[in-house]
Amino acid sequence: METIQNYINGSFHDPINGDWLDNYCPVDGSVTGKLPNSSAEDVENAYIAARSAFPSWSQTPLDERSRILIRISELLESKLQDLAEAESVDNGKPVTLAKTIDIPRAADNFRFFGNATTQFASESHESVGFEAINYTLRQPIGVVGCISPWNLPLYLFTWKIAPAIAAGNCVVAKPSEVTPMTAYLLGAICAEAGLPRGVLNIVHGSGTITGQAIVEHPDITAISFTGGTETGAHIAKLAAPKFKKLSLELGGKNPNIIFADCDYRNMLETTVRSSFANQGQICLCGSRIFVEASVYDKFKADFIMRVKTLKVGDPRDKNTDIGALVSQAHMDKVKEYIAIAKDEGHVILCGGNQVVVNGLENGYYLEPTVIEVTNDACRINQEEIFGPVVTLMPFNREEEALQMANSVKYGLSATVWTNNLNRAMRLSNQLQTGIVWVNTWMLRDLRTPFGGMKASGIGREGGFEALRFFTESKNVCIKY
Ligand code: NAD
Repeated sequence: METIQNYINGSFHDPINGDWLDNYCPVDGSVTGKLPNSSAEDVENAYIAARSAFPSWSQTPLDERSRILIRISELLESKLQDLAEAESVDNGKPVTLAKTIDIPRAADNFRFFGNATTQFASESHESVGFEAINYTLRQPIGVVGCISPWNLPLYLFTWKIAPAIAAGNCVVAKPSEVTPMTAYLLGAICAEAGLPRGVLNIVHGSGTITGQAIVEHPDITAISFTGGTETGAHIAKLAAPKFKKLSLELGGKNPNIIFADCDYRNMLETTVRSSFANQGQICLCGSRIFVEASVYDKFKADFIMRVKTLKVGDPRDKNTDIGALVSQAHMDKVKEYIAIAKDEGHVILCGGNQVVVNGLENGYYLEPTVIEVTNDACRINQEEIFGPVVTLMPFNREEEALQMANSVKYGLSATVWTNNLNRAMRLSNQLQTGIVWVNTWMLRDLRTPFGGMKASGIGREGGFEALRFFTESKNVCIKY
């Protein structure tokens, strides 16, 4: 049994009030250990450590900050296998996925922002005719809060922490209570890399107690949050009267629009991934697949044939494509949506059932599920399921596909498959999403803005956008 502790001021601590949560392993449903359910007092201690570290860290030369971030990145890479296994046990994802996506990307986050901070420049404006010059300082905010979800645990946790500390802030961070393990391991890695104590403090616990204490803390003045739309709305309500800076990366219900003129093989393979990678638990997964009518029947047959070959099973097995869902509660939610689909009279084309894996009978496994719908306004096309479930629907005209793509409350990402350049550009202009992929999916360049419109959030992460979020701009005007 593993005991996870808070990482505060460079060392590990039990929660002050002695309150603990069980840590479940989705692979077999067992309890693997416990983690603190930290109170406002633990958050206060983390805050005090961060505040004490801030004067020195914010004045640390950029080269030195950069060197430490890159060292963290190298250490993450050197521990790839152990971290990937830990992520898989905690989350249920295949080890191969954690090894190729989650952990390398966590390392990339530190390397990228270690480099980016040395290139982050501010503007100056010569006020011609006024004999004045304006220059803009971008100063670190102070102590900032970072709160992340369970689907890409270390990947998303570090996507916030790396730019926050690169910009000179000190951090109080909380990973999801459902997947705390790699965040726990990160503490020791940061210490080994020479990150001064107090710069990063990691407190574990539930959203409603620990998370909320971070959001409500009067002197944690910026919150970077990734998670569900409802939680985001709640956080916005708490933060608004305190005038906190907010970055909210929330849910999605992303359209995948397929035209007959696309590169079919590439589209088919990528669509299998964009539907079911990480058990469909990626905010960018394309869960509503719209297919041009002339190629619909062919796509439907080929897609189902391909999906049926996906192997659901032990995440440690390198041949496994689909691992376990993250928790019993989440699996129950996804199953409920499959039941709603049946009630609403939609056709389950494949999947739809729980899978009992030999030797892992209490794990949370579901078949990849493809559902044919005739109406985009139905619940399973409008509400975020966040599991291995996609819907198929044909369309006749481009305008019809666009209208359906935009007819949801969310606006995170969209994928378009076509070799018609005019159409690709037309749709890219009109899709109401923060990210559009044409003839690809989840190709990430970390310099680009990342985030959603509408109920998918506020603000953008990535590149200099993140460094701008984690700094206050101050304009200085000098008359000569
Ligand atoms: P969640 O909102 O339940 O929890 C996210 C984090 O917020 C967790 O650490 C949780 O403990 C914390 N939290 C919960 N209530 C809180 C409160 N009152 N105050 C402060 N913190 C609180 O989300 P989840 O179930 O962990 O993650 C799944 C959701 O995340 C999905 O909706 C998915 O689309 C979204 N997501 C979005 C992105 C993106 O980049 N837009 C990326 C990944 C996941």
